[in-house]
Amino acid sequence: MIGQSESSLSHLECPLCGRRHDADVLQNLCTDCGKPLLARYDLSAAARTLTLASLPSRPRNLWRWAEVLPVRDPAHRLTLGEGSTPLAPAPRLGEALGLPRLLIKDEGLNPTTSFKARGMAAAVSRARELGATSLSAPSAGNAAGALAAYAALAGLPARVYMPRDVPLPFVAECRALGAQVVLVDGLITDCGRAAAADLRAAGGFDLSTLKEPYRLEGKKTMGYELAEQLGWRLPDVIVYPTGGGTGLIGMAKAFDELEELGWIGPARPRLVTVQCDGCAPLVRAFTAGEVFAAPWEGAATIADGLRVPSAVGDYLVLRALRASCGTAVAVSDADALACCSLLAREGIFAAPEGGATAAAARDLAAAGWLHPEETVLLFNTGSGHKYAHLWAGGA
Ligand SMILES: *Cc1c(COP(=O)(O)O)cnc(C)c1O
Ligand SMILES: [Zn+2]
Repeated sequence: MIGQSESSLSHLECPLCGRRHDADVLQNLCTDCGKPLLARYDLSAAARTLTLASLPSRPRNLWRWAEVLPVRDPAHRLTLGEGSTPLAPAPRLGEALGLPRLLIKDEGLNPTTSFKARGMAAAVSRARELGATSLSAPSAGNAAGALAAYAALAGLPARVYMPRDVPLPFVAECRALGAQVVLVDGLITDCGRAAAADLRAAGGFDLSTLKEPYRLEGKKTMGYELAEQLGWRLPDVIVYPTGGGTGLIGMAKAFDELEELGWIGPARPRLVTVQCDGCAPLVRAFTAGEVFAAPWEGAATIADGLRVPSAVGDYLVLRALRASCGTAVAVSDADALACCSLLAREGIFAAPEGGATAAAARDLAAAGWLHPEETVLLFNTGSGHKYAHLWAGGA
């Protein structure tokens, strides 16, 4: 590798009001309008060391993309081997869905068995670099485990807030990794309120998704990675199970950065948000042509990662879907679970969020929105292991 791969982070920007913020102090939401901040880079500086020729000698973890990640001092780059997940053709599933050129990216193979590891690797590393001494986040399940793991690695205390009815393996994982677990009556939004109250009283840094700028940066590596795995040609369509939307916004951002780096052209995949019938605020807002998504009342779904009734980055998801000529669809819990059995034909024990993408792809193919000659990439965002209760009753 040529020299050090230094972060080219330049500043933070609020894409709603345009206000710039200092990237070298701890930041949460835009102090003017209360919306998420995005990290901006000096990509021409990044391009001096982040070259195609340098890739083979780089690590196969998040820090492969160090120039376009926020951590400045390599000593602060925490890793548990996140990222570099397989992207494979899925011919058996593709046949079942009527999509012969189907691909799956299996994020269930990440540390703590979901892609939340990518986001937390970046955010915890950067929070520690900027002086955070204790970390906190509300979570529907998987983010808590990932925070617990990276906080443990960072040597920082972590407090996680999950709905009281979250399946036991999510709680067990956090406790085993040394995090303090607070169970809250209600949903992730109620967890967020409880976490915020404790932060005001006891201090600590808030790592709620999109309420700090760097979990998105970690998740955006999915976009860099899939582009590399496909030889710098993007698929026609990406089908993504969307809760807070961090990964979807992150991938759209990655593609824009890759174009600026000159590694891809202007063509973009159509992005598809998948939610479950019992909690589909983004689908409802997309369909109604809204700019923001109204909170969903009475959210209920077996796909814990999608049980997000209200997302602070709602308008960025809706913007990314529309800019890519994509769409948003809801599927039933029953279909999501049944489609886990279709992913099983590829040897993947998928989380119901992954099953939901297969159900959505089948529906979109049947409706003629997806075409058999298109390359369609499904994201399995987590492994089924922490959702074992869904299979407890037999096949
Ligand atoms: C968190 C989560 C999601 C939703 O991710 P976002 O990027 O926040 O939309 C999807 N699937 C699983 C398994 C998750 O844990
Ligand atoms: Zn703003």
